[in-house]
Amino acid sequence: MIYKDDPDSIRGFLEDTSNLKSGHTPGVFFPESVDELAGLLNHAIGEHQRFTIAGNGTGTTGGRIPQGEYVISMQKLDRIGEPVALSADRAFITVQAGVLLETIQKKVEQFGWFYPPDPTEKLCFIGSTIANNSSGARSFKYGATRNHVTRILLILAQGEQLNLSRGVCRADKDGLFSLSLPSGRELNFKRAAYQMPETSKHNAGYFSEEGMDLVDLFIGSEGTLGVIAEADLLLTPLPPAIISCLVYFGKIDELFSFVSLLKEPASSIRPRAIEFFDIHSLEFLAARYPDVPARSEGAIFLELETTPEREENDLDTLFGLMESCNAMSDESWMALDRDEQERMREFRHALPLIVNDWLSRQHESKISTDMAVPERAFRKLFDFYCNSCEQRGFVYIIFGHIGDAHLHLNILPRNREEFIEAKALYRTFVDKALALGGTLSAEHGIGKLKTEYLVGMYHEDGIREMARVKKYLDPFLLLNRGNLIPVAYLETQTH
Ligand SMILES: Cc1cc2nc3c(=O)[nH]c(=O)nc-3n(C[C@H](O)[C@H](O)[C@H](O)COP(=O)(O)OP(=O)(O)OC[C@H]3O[C@@H](n4cnc5c(N)ncnc54)[C@H](O)[C@@H]3O)c2cc1C
Repeated sequence: MIYKDDPDSIRGFLEDTSNLKSGHTPGVFFPESVDELAGLLNHAIGEHQRFTIAGNGTGTTGGRIPQGEYVISMQKLDRIGEPVALSADRAFITVQAGVLLETIQKKVEQFGWFYPPDPTEKLCFIGSTIANNSSGARSFKYGATRNHVTRILLILAQGEQLNLSRGVCRADKDGLFSLSLPSGRELNFKRAAYQMPETSKHNAGYFSEEGMDLVDLFIGSEGTLGVIAEADLLLTPLPPAIISCLVYFGKIDELFSFVSLLKEPASSIRPRAIEFFDIHSLEFLAARYPDVPARSEGAIFLELETTPEREENDLDTLFGLMESCNAMSDESWMALDRDEQERMREFRHALPLIVNDWLSRQHESKISTDMAVPERAFRKLFDFYCNSCEQRGFVYIIFGHIGDAHLHLNILPRNREEFIEAKALYRTFVDKALALGGTLSAEHGIGKLKTEYLVGMYHEDGIREMARVKKYLDPFLLLNRGNLIPVAYLETQTH
């Protein structure tokens, strides 16, 4: 197996996009086959080795940054199959964990299929998107990654291979999972006993619900229960046509009415993505895109799947909804072909680049939220974000997945004092979102950065439940220690 321990090879594995600086490791293993990966874990106890699993480093929560553990890089496990049709409207593809999401999306498109999960950043490994149950704009229609995974090949902490298809192992009425491993060992343990929030997206802590599939426990467990080595992904037919548009509004209340109409179950159009840009995001964008109208209080980007036959009707319906909410139709931007849609994609993706550029001149890090609340509480959290930032005179932007009542607030500190104040305010935001029945993380996960806040969400009992599951499957804490569950809860007796 390839192993590297020189500083140049290690450096890249001590970072992701979180700005966590404390990473260190003795070295990095690069398994080139599933058996090599399993063998590595199999010998871990004898070798006194613990591991942090590394995808491609686009995570935002420090999950892949080792704190003294060895690193397992997934980059050499990069085999990809071909789509296999199951019917006219369903297919699957088998991929290893280190294949780039972008590679999968491009490959299946060539065969007329579509893999919907699209967590904005395409340079992530598919295994990580499963370990993190990644989502993104299209989850409004398609849900998060877990909806699109039908089988995983998981390497358990001590090296056993668990080839698990959906439907094979479900929690019984008492929450008990029972499964025989190929080695003859029996797995018998209960799902974590707690309620998950009623948000449409949720990615904080182990998945747990009545009758759940064991596959769903591993999806979103952030590499703490096993290493995803391979998976079968469900594909749907590639939509024949897409309508993309960016709709500006002079008044924020009219924008919110537009979103409510789009989300009406009875609406004759159902976008796959509904995304929000607040007035401050538009101000940043206007510096590079002079066509952004100065008097707009916000904009909605939406993406709608259609067909050439239906396109005109869908556009009429869309214009009707825009008119009824006083959208700034003349200034709005329609993209009906690939080139124009690519220009619109560049526009949307320019926001983080412009903001990061601005921030680097202030020499400070942003404070960003990933909370979501149930639909009924959305406006309360939005107003709380805005009022709190306005009172303090902060520079901030709010943008993101309004279809799922999930917006990212980024506070952009101009100096150390503002950074410290914004960090304290972040805790207030977490408390508010949780009090409104929300989740600490809708998509980015907990990693190493948010474990202390997770205790606020699940309380001690809930965290102990997670620790019990973790210690059943990984009793020697070999995998991704420090992620998700505060270490103090793992070091106390839970059985
Ligand atoms: C600009 C930007 C936008 C983003 N937008 C979104 C978004 O809209 N939605 C969203 O959900 N995310 C988003 N993300 C976050 C990120 O892209 C996802 O979390 C992605 O899944 C990380 O993939 P990666 O390969 O880079 O993983 P890494 O950062 O390398 O690792 C992430 C975590 O996964 C674990 N892991 C990696 N591989 C495995 C494996 N095979 N088995 C078990 N555990 C493993 C690691 O230990 C770590 O804890 C965004 C990130 C950026 C930079």
